[in-house]
Amino acid sequence: MAFKTLNEGNNPVAVGRERLLGLVIVGLSGDELVQAALHLRRDSTRGHYPIFADTQAWPGQEASQGPILDCLLDGYVTGEDDALTRAEQYWAAAADKTDLPVHNSDARLLSYLLMRPDIDLAPIRDWASPEIYRYPLIEAFGVTDCAELLNRLAARGLIRRQSIVERLRLCPACHGGHALFVDICPNCEGLEIEQDQSLHCFTCGHVAGERAFLAGAALQCPNCRTRLRHIGTDYDRPMEHYGCRQCNERFIDPTIVARCSICNHQTRPERLITREIGRYTLTEQGRVCVLAGMTDEMPSPVLPDGLITPPAFEYLLSWQSALADHHRQCFFTLLMLRMRRRDASSDAPADTQLARKLHELSQRIHHALEAGELATRTQEGEFWILMPQAGEERVRELMQTLETWLTDDSGRPIAGVDLQARMMASNDPRASGADGAALMQRLASTTTERAHA
Ligand SMILES: [Zn+2]
Ligand SMILES: [Zn+2]
Ligand SMILES: [Zn+2]
Repeated sequence: MAFKTLNEGNNPVAVGRERLLGLVIVGLSGDELVQAALHLRRDSTRGHYPIFADTQAWPGQEASQGPILDCLLDGYVTGEDDALTRAEQYWAAAADKTDLPVHNSDARLLSYLLMRPDIDLAPIRDWASPEIYRYPLIEAFGVTDCAELLNRLAARGLIRRQSIVERLRLCPACHGGHALFVDICPNCEGLEIEQDQSLHCFTCGHVAGERAFLAGAALQCPNCRTRLRHIGTDYDRPMEHYGCRQCNERFIDPTIVARCSICNHQTRPERLITREIGRYTLTEQGRVCVLAGMTDEMPSPVLPDGLITPPAFEYLLSWQSALADHHRQCFFTLLMLRMRRRDASSDAPADTQLARKLHELSQRIHHALEAGELATRTQEGEFWILMPQAGEERVRELMQTLETWLTDDSGRPIAGVDLQARMMASNDPRASGADGAALMQRLASTTTERAHA
C-alpha cells in the first residue's frame, strides 16, 4: 500500500499536490467504510469530490455493502499515484473549475454529475426502505424526497432518465411501496374464502360446492337426493368456483384489494400511484448550466401582466441600441410614462383614482403593443416601452391609445395627478453609444418633456 500519510480512524488521505483533488478512505471496510463515505459525501463543500477507498476494502466478504458503496464511492485505488491520476480525470470533466455550485442539494448533485459524465445515477433496492428503491448519494446530499428532486431537475431539462429500473405501485396514503395484494370475498369482503367447484342439480336446481354432493365415490344431490350420473343431463358445473365460509356467497373470482403493509390503507389496485424508478444522467443543457454556475431556476423575464422585468428590459434595450449603432437600417423609439400625485397633501380621491389607473395601465399596456414591442415598470407609476423599428406614425398611434387611457371617465386629465410621457428615438444624438441603463437614465433626467395635457 503506497499511502504516504496514513491517518488514524476514518480520517481520509488527501489527494492532490497544489490543491485538494479528492480523498481516499484508508483501512476501513464494511459498515465502517459506508459510514465514512456517507460522512464525506454529506460535506457541503466537498461532497461532490472524487472519494475512493483503498483496495483492501474491496467488498468481498461484505457483499451486502457493495451496492451502497458503489453509489457513494468513486471506486478503489491501489495508492496515492493511482488516486491522483483518477481524481484528475474527474476534474478534467469539470474543465478544472474549482468553484462548482454547491450552495444547495440541487447544485451539489449537478456538480457531482458534471464530474462523472460516464456514469448513470442509479438507485439501490432496499427492501427495508418504505419506497423500496433509494438513491443513497442524493440522500447524502441532504434530500428527503429523491423522486421529487429527480423529476424537478428532469422537467427543467438538466438531467435525463436514461432507463427505467422499476415501475412501482405506491400507496396513495403514505407513498410506500409495500402493498399486499389480498383476495377477499366480493360480498362480505372477508378473508375466509376457498376454492370449491360448484355443482348444479338439474332435478331441483340446488347449487352448492362439490363436497356437499359427494356420497362415497358417487354424486348425490344433498337437497333432493337424486343420484347425479351424467354431466349435462343430470347436473352441470357452474362458473362459480369460489365459496365464502363466512357468508356462503359463491363467486367466479375473488375481489383483489391492495393493502399497505406500512399504514394499513386499503384500496383497489388501480388506485395505487405508479412511479417509475430510473437511472439518470446530466444533459448537455445541464452541463452548460453547472459550468456557468447557474443551477437555480431562473425566474421568467415575462411577468403575469405581460410586462417584462426591468433587467430583461435593460438588456434588450442595450441590444437594440448596439444594433442601431452598427446597422443603419435598425432603429427604435424608447418611451417613458410617469404618473405621479401632484403634491403629497392631495386628497384621498386622487390617490384612489391614481392607484386604480396605475393598476389598469399595468394590466392593459401590453395589449396596446405590437409584436416585438416590450414594456416594463421600474417603479410604481413609471412605465417604459421599447418600440423597435417603429416609425413616427406607429409612435403617434400608441401615444393616442395611451392618452385615452390616461384620463378619467369623462376624458379629462386625472385631477391632482401629473402625467408625463417622454420619448427618445435611436437617431437622437443622446442615444448614440449608450447601453440600456444609460439610455433610460438620460431619458428620465431630460428636461424637455412632453407633458400630458
Ligand atoms: Zn400506506
Ligand atoms: Zn363472504
Ligand atoms: Zn337436487
